[in-house]
Amino acid sequence: RAASEEALLRGLNPEQLAAVTLPPRPALILAGAGSGKTRVLTTRIAWLIHTGQLSPGGVLAVTFTNKAAKEMLTRLAALLPMPVRGMWIGTFHGLCNRFLRAHWKQAGLPQGFQILDSGDQLSAVKRIVKAMNLDEERFVPKQVAWFIAGAKEDGLRPGDVEVRDGQTRTLVEVYQAYEDQCRREGVVDFAELLLRTYELMRDDPALRAHYQRRFRHVLVDEFQDTNKLQYAWLKLFAGPQTAVMAVGDDDQSIYAFRGAQVGNMAAFEREFHVQQVIKLERNYRSHGHILDAANALIARNSRRLGKTLRTEAGQGEPVRVYEAASDFAETQWLIEEARLLHREGLARRDIAVLYRSNAQSRVIESGLFNAGIPYRVYGGLRFFERAEVKHALAYLRLIENPNDDTSFLRVVNVPARGIGARTVEQLQDAARASGRSLAQSVAAVGGRGGTHLQAFVARIDAMREATRGATLREIIGHMLEASGLLDFYRTEKDGKDRLENLDELVNAAESFVTQEGFGRDAVALPVDEFSAAAEAELAKVVGGLAPEERPAAAGGPGRIADGDPPARARTEVTPDAETGEIMSPLAAFLTHASLEAGEHQAQAGQDALQLMTIHAAKGLEFDAVFLTGLEEGLFPHENSQSDLDGLEEERRLMYVAITRARRRLYLSHCQTRMLHGQTRYNVKSRFIDELPEEALKWITPRHGGFGSGFEREFRSAWSRGSGLGSVVGAGREPGPAAPPLVPKAPSHGLRTGQGVFHTKFGEGVIVTLEGQGADARAQVNFGRHGMKWLALGIAKLTPVD
Ligand code: ATP
Ligand code: MG
Repeated sequence: RAASEEALLRGLNPEQLAAVTLPPRPALILAGAGSGKTRVLTTRIAWLIHTGQLSPGGVLAVTFTNKAAKEMLTRLAALLPMPVRGMWIGTFHGLCNRFLRAHWKQAGLPQGFQILDSGDQLSAVKRIVKAMNLDEERFVPKQVAWFIAGAKEDGLRPGDVEVRDGQTRTLVEVYQAYEDQCRREGVVDFAELLLRTYELMRDDPALRAHYQRRFRHVLVDEFQDTNKLQYAWLKLFAGPQTAVMAVGDDDQSIYAFRGAQVGNMAAFEREFHVQQVIKLERNYRSHGHILDAANALIARNSRRLGKTLRTEAGQGEPVRVYEAASDFAETQWLIEEARLLHREGLARRDIAVLYRSNAQSRVIESGLFNAGIPYRVYGGLRFFERAEVKHALAYLRLIENPNDDTSFLRVVNVPARGIGARTVEQLQDAARASGRSLAQSVAAVGGRGGTHLQAFVARIDAMREATRGATLREIIGHMLEASGLLDFYRTEKDGKDRLENLDELVNAAESFVTQEGFGRDAVALPVDEFSAAAEAELAKVVGGLAPEERPAAAGGPGRIADGDPPARARTEVTPDAETGEIMSPLAAFLTHASLEAGEHQAQAGQDALQLMTIHAAKGLEFDAVFLTGLEEGLFPHENSQSDLDGLEEERRLMYVAITRARRRLYLSHCQTRMLHGQTRYNVKSRFIDELPEEALKWITPRHGGFGSGFEREFRSAWSRGSGLGSVVGAGREPGPAAPPLVPKAPSHGLRTGQGVFHTKFGEGVIVTLEGQGADARAQVNFGRHGMKWLALGIAKLTPVD
């Protein structure tokens, strides 16, 4: 064992080594990006277990994203000769879900409770605002949903909110109605997962004592972004004997807008009596030019705890800056560049494309799609949020829980079965009056509508009966047929894509079952030569543990070994290792769909380019990073420019983005961009100007015009408050002084107002034409199919008049 302990700790620098092998007491590590914070945290868990100081069941580790949790589990699986699946490592939400699955009864939840994603939450709020006859201008559903989430994140139930004015009083009433509805439907939203766990731990001393005894070590990554409730939550899980290690970087605090409190770091130091704050100063991730850029940028922020970072990796390549004529051109350039990188031997998964806002991904996605390059979007635009997928999931939810009103409303008339808005309103009234679910109230509606409603409920019941004991795949297959969804999309005109997505849902379920072992914070175990021999050694170690703390041994229940029969074997209901509570595979899959939406664009295991917002990239690293859309108004975001705090948070976000890159970093900005259906003329982000010139290489010729007079004019327009990136005029050619990068005459011969024919969308009229040559594109009104933007190089438009 001595030899492999040495192997575990090999390569750590003295500060890291000290942190990893710290005696069990509260510790705070405060250090910059890429300095090995996450590595220290992971190695410490491995070291504690390896040296027998800790059983895998005694760890509680919190990460920020599902992706980060998976990376940590993968790293641990490589370091440790034992299955890591049973360990409590995950996001706050993932861990709370796990906790509540085990203690649903005490928490006052139905056993198969389902999770409302933010879209479902919004539509629930909308329904309530409507039912209460409130003015949607004054009570904008989005803001109301925001209010409810904010209250929950402050740990406040409706009765706890301080009511200062009439507006707040009404908001609290909506909050109350929303809570009642969630309870009736047996659903919880994301914030509720945390709050409910917090309350149960707070109010149940026996349970609290149990977990505080159980978790000997609590470790939190990205601590700078914890909010008030999360911090209070942590304090409940940490008992007097628990060693808590918090790891963070104040320069990477990017969730203040959602209530995160950097102040938690100081509070932690004080309340946990941290004796010494550990600092790590060597950056192992990025080459010199990249780090220089990051350091120079963040030095402009005023409120910092102050840290330095150095690298021994050498200067490496300069940061490349690219100016594109349009967002379309930016994408084309990015695709070419990514292709080159890939040809030079870089795996696609080591290349990331980052952007400030989700809306930016659409252009990039469609470019990649057309170019046939596999990609994967993390967060944001989601597979599980596509309409047809949500419909299918709603049917599945109803099979699992007939009283899920949100799902009921989503599909009661999809496909159409003669149930109109009036019938639904009657049903809702009846349900409200009796305090029961919609499904329970169908008998109260008379007439033809009532008959249809009853038939709908009977249909769901029949599906439930028919799929009892079936595999997840069979359940979904049956549901797709019996619900009529397949027939519906088979006859719909552009139903082909939708059918493919529904197929993909079956695939998603399949890979969920085989790879994730039900997705209980699980990860597919990498099979390495290490493990077989080490497993035997492990048997000795765990021999001394209490049975419930024992990790599942090879071939045992929690483990899917190579060659395990997939789906079928897994669909038997598996008891929870801790409580013996059971969850059906269907419920587990639905939970997975809510918690881990959006990771299915490329097939699992396929080498794909990684697309995500900068927020979602926190903690991750890539050999090459494209940071796109560096334009004033977009990044820094226009909402943040008016106050210093906002601007400093945007700068920290830029710091996070830059420090994701190991070897190569690209920054790009566009002269024009289509956003929300309008062309905006943009000036490059001030953040580019804040980087040291020596670290940069301009890969587009810098021309006087756009960079000087025009830009100055724009900047002063902005400071006068007229707004940057405002619409100058849709469809006009780029700014006056901007020479086209590739001068070409329009060759498509189309004009605005012209009638055209498209093979898929049929006849339409050109509304806008812009760009030239390969960049040329048109906005076309296709009537029934709506407005579309088409790349003329790809879309074949035939003039019809
Ligand atoms: P962030 O603030 O972005 O989350 P971090 O501080 O958590 O960064 P890590 O992700 O742990 O940093 O480490 C950055 C990279 O440096 C990783 O690839 C990690 O494996 C590597 N690394 C860390 N410490 C060492 C070391 N002592 N020797 C070699 N590589 C190291
Ligand atoms: Mg990290």
